[in-house]
Amino acid sequence: MANSAKYKAPLMALRASLTQRVNAISKDLHHEDEAIEKDFAEQATQLENDEVLNSLNDEAKSTVMQIDKALLRINDGHFGRCSACGIEIDKQRLDAVPYAEFCIECAE
Ligand SMILES: [Zn+2]
Repeated sequence: MANSAKYKAPLMALRASLTQRVNAISKDLHHEDEAIEKDFAEQATQLENDEVLNSLNDEAKSTVMQIDKALLRINDGHFGRCSACGIEIDKQRLDAVPYAEFCIECAE
């Protein structure tokens, strides 16, 4: 069984930095710091930027959700096991992606 407790701190740290990023992106998306008047070209550029920001934001949010699930698994003792097939997830994989929910085979 993986030593799940040692993954708790890195997961929390990662969660904190992702949450910070989501907040920063949300602020950008709402253009709180910007003047409202823009010409058409600027608006078009901004729309493209917003799309990129939105997808970054979605990615960060879904990672935060995965981290929350991983933290729950640490608490209930299921951490380190593949949610699909139940085998122990490779330690190297957990070190690289501590919130991994599936073993490499099931993730592919
Ligand atoms: Zn599996």
